[in-house]
Formats: sequence, structure tokens, C-alpha cells
Amino acid sequence: MPSPGPHHRHDGDGWVACSFGDAEHRHWGLYGAAGLLLARRSPGGVVSDVVLQHRALWSHHGGTWGIPGGALAAGEDAVTGALRESAEEAGIAAGLVRVVGRHVLDHGVWRYTTVVAEVRDGVDLQPAVTDLESLDVRWVSVRKTDRLPLLPAFATALPGLLALLEAPSRPGA
Ligand SMILES: [Zn+2]
Repeated sequence: MPSPGPHHRHDGDGWVACSFGDAEHRHWGLYGAAGLLLARRSPGGVVSDVVLQHRALWSHHGGTWGIPGGALAAGEDAVTGALRESAEEAGIAAGLVRVVGRHVLDHGVWRYTTVVAEVRDGVDLQPAVTDLESLDVRWVSVRKTDRLPLLPAFATALPGLLALLEAPSRPGA
């Protein structure tokens, strides 16, 4: 199986087998995994772009686009892990973002948490490739995400994740 590059290895690195439904799955992350869906808004307050990562060819589903993320370390909560991974892989400083929600994909012995966040007001955040896990990391227009070959599980989850970003901006929500 592919393995991560030489950088940023930790005790959560490894594969987990689950038997969700009738299928046999293998998942990365002995303690589960987490990723960061980071959004920014247009001046009018509409969610306009999200940070996507073009995954290195050697990685699981290599060549597809997804979000920065990876295996959690022992005892690490999902928000901490997602922010750590996005700092390592995409140069996203945790202090520049505001977490607005999370979504958990629960496969029993293994879970993937997508932490949904947006850039803090007034911050011009530019993500960048900062380790070997990415071919590219950049802002992608929400309207154009369907033009990229997305990681299948991420493509399935994306509409629900974007809905989490809309909720806080509704009056009275
Ligand atoms: Zn599974």
C-alpha cells in the first residue's frame, strides 16, 4: 500500500480494516482521520471558494482532488488534527481560520471527521504546497469544483459540507 512521505510521520499512521455494510474497506489512520474544508466568502458574504488539494500520485486515490488532512495522532481530537494537517500540507495557519462545524463519516472502528472552517474576516489567506502530499493546493471556485476529478468520498460529502457553511449566516440561525 502507499505510505506517506518521509515528513510528519506519527503514531497514528497505519491502515485500519473495517466492514461497513457488506464491503471490506481499508482506511488510513489507526485513530481515525480528519481533514479541513476551508472556505472564504465574497465581499457580499456568499461562500465563493474552498481550498482543495491535488493529491500526490503515490497517495490513496492519487491524482484526485480533496482536502488537506490525514491520520489523527493518539489522543488527538479531530479539530486539532485537521488544523495540524492543513498547516503541514497546505501552509494554513490555524489562527487565521474559524471552525464553523464538522461532519463525521462513521465506519465503526474508523471515523473520518471533516472540519468545516472559514477564513477570519479581513485575512488574505493563500494556501501553498508545503510537503510531499500534494501536487497543488489552491482556492477553487465553489461553482467549478465539479470540473475537477474529486476524491469519490469527498464528492459525495461536499454538498452537505457546504450547507454547514450556510447555516451560521442565516438570520436567527
Ligand atoms: Zn469503512
